[in-house]
Amino acid sequence: MRHTVRVVEQIYVGIDIGGTKVLAGVVDDRGRVVRTARRATPGRRVDAAQVEEALTQALTEVTGADTVLGVGLAAAGFVDATGERVMFAPHLPWVDTPVRSLLEQRWGVPVALENDATAAAHAEATYGAARDVADAIVVTMGTGIGGGVILGHRVHRGWNGMAGEFGHMQVVPDGEVCECGGRGCWEQYSSGNALVRFARDRLGSRPSILEDLCGGNPAALNGPMVTQAAEEGDLLAHEAFGHVGDWLGVGLANLVAAFDPACLVIGGGLSAAGDRLLEPARTALLRSLVGAGHRRVPPVVAARLGPDAGLVGAADLARHR
Ligand SMILES: [Zn+2]
Repeated sequence: MRHTVRVVEQIYVGIDIGGTKVLAGVVDDRGRVVRTARRATPGRRVDAAQVEEALTQALTEVTGADTVLGVGLAAAGFVDATGERVMFAPHLPWVDTPVRSLLEQRWGVPVALENDATAAAHAEATYGAARDVADAIVVTMGTGIGGGVILGHRVHRGWNGMAGEFGHMQVVPDGEVCECGGRGCWEQYSSGNALVRFARDRLGSRPSILEDLCGGNPAALNGPMVTQAAEEGDLLAHEAFGHVGDWLGVGLANLVAAFDPACLVIGGGLSAAGDRLLEPARTALLRSLVGAGHRRVPPVVAARLGPDAGLVGAADLARHR
């Protein structure tokens, strides 16, 4: 039944700003996304005012006639320990910028600021796959790897607020060069970028529908194409997932050795591949984990909140700020 008179509601909004898109959502008190609005991220080479304008447009659209009680911002970058400043972000123009207070002044509502993967880990711990355990590790696999450490039901932020940057743990001495300036970082072997590179390096070495999908241009190959090819039974694409999943399990074994969590939650865009990614990871985890035969080995499970996890976590932080 629809009511003809709409009551103005009091809402909390989460906004996830990544390298390519701004996703804003109204989130209820059970972590459910009621509605969303999206904009393209203007990019790193524009000034910060344009990014703030895109955020404002997404917020205005998703708010409609309702009253906003608080906004949580999940940003793809390094957020300081107090949740005030974005110190550095590879895909955004903010450098040591007091983003939280800037937006609070602009919007006239309380604002919470958090790293996107940390916000996603908070959401999984509160409403998602890690809800029933005290200690968990959340690994977010997109173009790179982010994540969060959950200890005693709470996200562990660390001294600088930068805990959970698992992607830059070195797994191969003198290995592949990483965007961070280091070599052999985990995300160079297990991420969306690693998936594409594996397939691209082997194009032409055997028959594969990937050659058709990228129009004969290896530079045009992307993650969705590899996923599609794997779904259609392509052997090279299947091998690429096996490679990335195997390295995922190796890194997970290191995290289990360090934290002994009860659950390993895999989120981010790449986790949509499901068992194609997670099965080889489980096998590699068992093979690589210290004392695997003498301990409980944590399950490797897919994140429950999907691509909304960042904004759900951010909205929840605003609600309980
Ligand atoms: Zn790195």
